[in-house]
Amino acid sequence: MTAPLPSYDRWELAGKRVLVRVDFNTPVAEVDGRLEVTDDFRIRATLPLFEELLAKGATVVACTHFGRPKGQVVEKYSVAPVRRRLAELCPGVELLENLRFNPGEEANDPVFGASLVEGFDYYINEAFSASHRAHASIMIPPTLIPSAAGPNLQREVATLSSLLEDPARPFVAIVGGAKVKDKLGIVKVLSQKADQVIVGGGMAYTFEATQGRTIGSSLFDASYLEVCAELMEGDKIVIPSDARGLPVGAPFGAGGDEAVLEWGEDIPDGFQGLDIGPATVATFSQIIADAATILWNGPMGVFEDPRLSYGTEAVARAVAASNAVSVIGGGDSVSAIQGYGLEDEVSFVSTGGGASLEFVELGDLPGLAALREGAGSPS
Ligand code: AMP
Repeated sequence: MTAPLPSYDRWELAGKRVLVRVDFNTPVAEVDGRLEVTDDFRIRATLPLFEELLAKGATVVACTHFGRPKGQVVEKYSVAPVRRRLAELCPGVELLENLRFNPGEEANDPVFGASLVEGFDYYINEAFSASHRAHASIMIPPTLIPSAAGPNLQREVATLSSLLEDPARPFVAIVGGAKVKDKLGIVKVLSQKADQVIVGGGMAYTFEATQGRTIGSSLFDASYLEVCAELMEGDKIVIPSDARGLPVGAPFGAGGDEAVLEWGEDIPDGFQGLDIGPATVATFSQIIADAATILWNGPMGVFEDPRLSYGTEAVARAVAASNAVSVIGGGDSVSAIQGYGLEDEVSFVSTGGGASLEFVELGDLPGLAALREGAGSPS
């Protein structure tokens, strides 16, 4: 177990200047010729912290990355729309321009990091979802001024830590998504910690191939066949027993109207699996219903296409219906659970896609280590 993160509880804030690193990398869309924030969830989630700091007499300045301008000033990546929404929700908090306009941010440049905290008394990291990146605004401030973890970041870390350290059992992990290469690390770790690891989505076909099953033209990564075969030798991994999908070349995702086909264990040549089938849904739902702790990361199929959302929706409903402690981590499973209106039926929705994966896999993140090792609470 790692040391606790420093807190700001005992800081004397009256008259002090506080820099808060947030993740306001929110979706935007053009409305009447200018970009507007279309989902202000991340901004609203940070309001309690801002309000607390302001109420204690601090001057609050926030900073965030926004899109991928790659170290250059690119107008469409200006934080202006976020700034406007923030001003409506919480007047009195300033927002710095996109950190990634400066190449020093992603290069973790100490000079850029130092320039950020100039004139500030304190730094708070409230950006769990950015804390897996060793970028200047995450790494450098804690080395220079008293620094602490924000309440949402604390909550994310506490939730994921308790799930990994002392889960109520049976602990069932559900891992999905496109690429086996991205998720193999977490499957390995979870097959140590969890009682069962359900594998679905595009990544499952490489596991299926290890069992001598045919997978047609479904997603497959030969370089991971051996590792997947080793993992299958344990008794933890549960893979799909049937599939739904389309002929190769039939459009899907953004459109298409070809009827979806269904197969048992084997997918014939010329076809690709894009969702799990009903037998798999029945098996997975039963395992989920019997769980006391659930961690779900990644969709069971191409859920963006309504023809191929059957398995992901069924898993979302099974997780929502269960009485288990349920933690949803990862952008796609979060948008799925929100899309079906089920976010209030689960215990915790993690905001950090890549960060929660990395935390589960490695047990820590660079940004959290920086807070622990940094200047910490003022003496
Ligand atoms: P990831 O970013 O790895 O979590 O993967 C999420 C993406 O995987 C989603 O956009 C899904 O459409 C896609 N996906 C899930 N299952 C499949 C599949 N069987 N074949 C192709 N793509 C898939």
